[in-house]
Amino acid sequence: MSIIVQKFGGTSVADSQKILSAARRAIRAKNDGHQVVMVVSAMGQNTDLLVALASQISDHPPAREMDMLLSTGEQVTVALMAMAIDSLGHEAVSMTGGQVGIRTDSTHTKARIHSIATERLHAALDSGKLVIAAGFQGVDESSNITTLGRGGSDTTAVALAAALGADACEIYTDVDGVYTTDPRLVPEARRASRISYDEMLELASLGAGVMHNRAIEFAKRFGVPVHVRSSFSDQPGTLITSQPESKVWTVAGAALVKDEAWVTVQGVPDRPGAASTIFSKIAGRRVAMDMIVQNVADEGHADISFSVVREDLAKTLKAVEEACKELGAGTYTCDDSVSKVSVVGLGMATQTGVAEKMFRGLAEKGINILMITTSEIKISVLVARDYALEALRTVHGVFELSSEPPAMEPIADLGALASAERDRALARLEGMEDLIIDEIALDVSQARITLPKVPDTPGMAAQVFDEVAENGIVVDMIVQSIGRGGQANLSFTVAKEDLARTMDIARSLAEGFQGEPPTSSPEVAKLAVSGIGMRSHTSVAQRMFQSLAAAGINVDMISTSEVRMNVVVDGRHGHKALEVLQGEFREAMA
Ligand code: ADP
Ligand code: ASP
Ligand code: MG
Repeated sequence: MSIIVQKFGGTSVADSQKILSAARRAIRAKNDGHQVVMVVSAMGQNTDLLVALASQISDHPPAREMDMLLSTGEQVTVALMAMAIDSLGHEAVSMTGGQVGIRTDSTHTKARIHSIATERLHAALDSGKLVIAAGFQGVDESSNITTLGRGGSDTTAVALAAALGADACEIYTDVDGVYTTDPRLVPEARRASRISYDEMLELASLGAGVMHNRAIEFAKRFGVPVHVRSSFSDQPGTLITSQPESKVWTVAGAALVKDEAWVTVQGVPDRPGAASTIFSKIAGRRVAMDMIVQNVADEGHADISFSVVREDLAKTLKAVEEACKELGAGTYTCDDSVSKVSVVGLGMATQTGVAEKMFRGLAEKGINILMITTSEIKISVLVARDYALEALRTVHGVFELSSEPPAMEPIADLGALASAERDRALARLEGMEDLIIDEIALDVSQARITLPKVPDTPGMAAQVFDEVAENGIVVDMIVQSIGRGGQANLSFTVAKEDLARTMDIARSLAEGFQGEPPTSSPEVAKLAVSGIGMRSHTSVAQRMFQSLAAAGINVDMISTSEVRMNVVVDGRHGHKALEVLQGEFREAMA
């Protein structure tokens, strides 16, 4: 019999009427002949209230007790939901995460799922009951209650769908699908009929709060089609699957992380291992670094800039101080009044001109770009928080995200896809959230150009990449550091054969800016490590740097995304670097 997992978020179970209406929806699915597992969140803002209550008692509540507290929110809902279904004349059983058999590691408040036992679920379903599972929680090896991180009920739902080999995973929420950006921030946003896993994964981690990013990791890993829909209507919703909505559309969506901070560590000795000392201290505190830019060295010293979410800044600075002490060098500056605006789209990997379009749009509004990183399918910029909303609206407009994509390819047979993946899923129920590396690739076809000390003013990046694009030159990776003294460094890579032409352009641009002449590396090697869990496993970047450093290889450029980490090193070290990374991640290779 087919199994459907239906997840109801906080607003969808905020009061008794809403609980009853969610119960009716589940009963409808059962009457249609499905076995139904409901996953529910805490009612309304209850988790926030519990967090606030804890903070009234203690500034540093023990993480174990925090989980004990937060897990009660979902427990209230499961019981009420089971009562609702009973009152509507159907049989239901509520279960906590532990009762379901969701085993996690012991990282309280951010636990990862190790395995899910499905016997109890199957037994209940086979006896004709609806199962109501508490979202967001599990138990560790010693039966301590753990939680999966805020928004984690989505992850519970998709993980259960994977473990049960469900036919569908429906996420019922207060919007009727995934929009091109948060419709509360940009009213003209458009609902997508479908979106690919990779795009949703990037968007989720770049600020689209509609889905927990680890839920999408699960969905991608196990091939679970996820259907995001409204609890309050029967609108069609958005299907998250392996295929994008349109193959010709470059940008699928835009997202904003309002509260970000950047840190620049200055005067880091430009030798292998220095960056890795900093990154390992930060990873040690379980902070996920986000945009990372390392400037090509200036007189034997490098500046390393990165962004973190604002609430992690204090922890991050402690780690940076420790690292500076250990390196016997370096000072740092930081700013916590910035926001990150990103655009995401599978089409970017194959189409040019996306970056300059974004930079131009922002320049026309006079919005200064403080930092840039790009990867194959996303571009992120840091801007002053005061301009965040305007920047988001601007990029949404620039890429005409309100319009329907020109061509909608029909969806391929999802059933077939799901069942092939399901076998893989069942073979992998242990280590469900482990890091998986699909590929480590070496690209030796590119060269690097750096424009040092360009004016840190609106429109600078737009001007550079307009000129480059006008000459038909395709730019791959772009990084722009945080400015210092009104100047920033801008580095990018192009195909080797375009280097001479690009350098001519760069030279005349530098003259125009009255800046320093550009520098270049004619031969660089780009290494791309791609997989699942690249950023939610905070140690991946650090392991890359540490292993390369141990082999005496210096990293020139870095860009990170949810699905890929790219580093650029000296071309002579390309093959060695590939071997090093293959060795480092051998056990995680799929
Ligand atoms: P739930 O409680 O159901 O889990 P959430 O509040 O976590 O709901 O997620 C739904 C909210 O996500 C929406 O109300 C919307 O404001 C926000 N959101 C952010 N980005 C997007 C987007 N791209 N598409 C749709 N909703 C988005
Ligand atoms: N109740 C939890 C939270 O508010 C989990 C969830 O709703 O997904 O974060
Ligand atoms: Mg949510």
